[in-house]
Amino acid sequence: CGIIGILGQLEAAPRILDALKRLEYRGYDSAGLTTLLNGKPIRRRAVGKLSALRQLVAADPAPGSTGIGHTRWATHGAPTVVNAHPHAAGPVHVVHNGIIENFRELREELTEAGCQFETETDTEVVAQMVAHLMAGGAEPFEAVSRTLDRVSGAFALAFLFKDQPDLLIAARHGSPLAIGWGEDEMFVGSDAIALSPMTSEITYLEEGDRAILHRSGAQIFDAEGKPVKRARRFVAVEQ
Ligand code: GLU
Repeated sequence: CGIIGILGQLEAAPRILDALKRLEYRGYDSAGLTTLLNGKPIRRRAVGKLSALRQLVAADPAPGSTGIGHTRWATHGAPTVVNAHPHAAGPVHVVHNGIIENFRELREELTEAGCQFETETDTEVVAQMVAHLMAGGAEPFEAVSRTLDRVSGAFALAFLFKDQPDLLIAARHGSPLAIGWGEDEMFVGSDAIALSPMTSEITYLEEGDRAILHRSGAQIFDAEGKPVKRARRFVAVEQ
């Protein structure tokens, strides 16, 4: 299972597919991506090998230089297209590795608040809660932070927002996540191997970190929301 997020200068979909290929070694049962073009999210998802997703994208392209991608190893909800990531709720698009332990109670709470769930995954509560908080007026980072304060489990997350083609939010809580620095481009991925064709300049998020990414750079915060500095280093990966 793996995560990739791109704020780029080039078409995102081919780079996402390439990164997901590099994350194949982790195992997966389905894969998907969402790109943004002029405020319109374009999502493609397929069960099985990455070649199935690749064919889908070739037949029905997903243009745009901003995007997120995912290889899923299902923990909650069968490996179907509907349960494949990215998940969406309102303006929120998310990819997730790991498990949200308390998703049942959060799902109940959100359903009572009027949210309609489309999937059987634990992940969807995250998308729905962030969307719900944004509908109540919260900014994306505040909505993500407040959601993270409510969820338990081990996970890595990357978020994309429909009307914000220059914004990614990433969070690490028990699953590794790396930020990649480019030339007016920024990336997030499960590891440096996924990012290696795009950049070798890497910041590893530490446990509990949350990050706001724009093409111009990243701001990193710890679990308490305090801004923190994390080392930028060059990581050599054999191609
Ligand atoms: N728990 C999530 C799901 O089943 C994510 C699984 C993963 O790490 O790929 O959809």
